[in-house]
Amino acid sequence: MENHGPRSESARSPESAFPRAPDRATAEALRWLAGRREAMIERLRSWCQQNSGSENLAGLRRMADRLVDDFAPLGVACQRRVTPPYTVIDEQGNSESRDSGDLLLWRHAPEAAQRLLLMIHYDTVYPPPPEDADSPGEVGAAAPAACRLESEGRLVGPGTADAKGGLLVMREALLAVRRFELDRGIGWTAVANPDEELGSPASGAMLPELAPQHSLGLLFEPSLPDGALVAGRMGSGNFTVVVRGRSAHAGRNPQEGRNAVILLCRLLAEIDQSGEGLAGVTVNVAQLHGGGALNRVPDRAVGRFNVRVAEPSVQAEWLGRLAALVERYRASEGFEVELHGGFHAPPKVVDAAFGELQRRVERAAEGIGREIAWRNTGGASDGNRLAAAGLPNVDTLGPRGDRLHSPDEWVDVDSLVPAAQTLLLVIAHYAREARQ
Ligand SMILES: [Zn+2]
Repeated sequence: MENHGPRSESARSPESAFPRAPDRATAEALRWLAGRREAMIERLRSWCQQNSGSENLAGLRRMADRLVDDFAPLGVACQRRVTPPYTVIDEQGNSESRDSGDLLLWRHAPEAAQRLLLMIHYDTVYPPPPEDADSPGEVGAAAPAACRLESEGRLVGPGTADAKGGLLVMREALLAVRRFELDRGIGWTAVANPDEELGSPASGAMLPELAPQHSLGLLFEPSLPDGALVAGRMGSGNFTVVVRGRSAHAGRNPQEGRNAVILLCRLLAEIDQSGEGLAGVTVNVAQLHGGGALNRVPDRAVGRFNVRVAEPSVQAEWLGRLAALVERYRASEGFEVELHGGFHAPPKVVDAAFGELQRRVERAAEGIGREIAWRNTGGASDGNRLAAAGLPNVDTLGPRGDRLHSPDEWVDVDSLVPAAQTLLLVIAHYAREARQ
């Protein structure tokens, strides 16, 4: 058992719900989890060996099959839901419908008044190895070749931290919670989605339905390299502009052409400046496609950009600027200008409901002698989407890791058990409070 040193007194939450020493079942569950270290590393290694790049549908299917089997010991039936198709704009400016993997959902005690939503994605940014590819991987860096455990306790491999380590934390904590019946009095839903690394274009539509059925959300993105958790997150939007002009021969009748590449470049240069004077806006013009033969005036061009905003009010103001800008370019004679996309993840702000949840997590972590630090970040996650749908959530309850989305992605294997224990205590405290 952990040694509980002096504790700062606080009137923030009922002391009875946060006992100084865990009751017997909770203490046993913590010990049981402590004994799971080696089994966790082995399972994580084998999960990471299965490629589940966001666009590798066969890989996503195999990973989902694996999760259905590996979560079966929870004794809660898995609902496997087909996600709706989503639309992407290709390099020619045409829209194309794509499928994603299944959303997996385990629902325990749905009739309970207090319910927790536990969620993390099972896709990664890494395309499948060439011999295994059945779809072109558009996202991602080269995957780390295979998992390897380095001497300082780092497991290097694709998705070790983001977010298969988090999936594992969720599984192990729930196993312990079920085994020691620490969730009496509450319900919970565990969700694994297949497309977070793309901005959840398919499963995102299912989140507004899930949010109101729950009291709070716990997500398992990796904690930061120094172990801190994320508090506020900027909002993130992805946009595509399609410009259609008119082609003509560069020598014979160039005056009849309408050069889509030039108009797009002018527009993108203005978009690049569109955050000026607004606090907390970052615009990144990232992609350009257009043109063909050098003797032909190009009639089509496609540009893509990402925008980050710190506040919902700034988001609204910037969107107004963008709309006005595009409207002005639409007035160009002989051109069509289309704007696609939007804020898939609105800003996640630190409000009172989030503050209460932060304290809940801090108090749970104290139970294993873990101190929690918080930081804001520019990166977005499904936590943004759930917060926008009204569900306060902490979204970095996964293990500690770094170099995400790179061939050197690693997870600290010694952070797996403490992350699972922290989650167990959050659930146990919450259930105890609900029973009182
Ligand atoms: Zn992630």
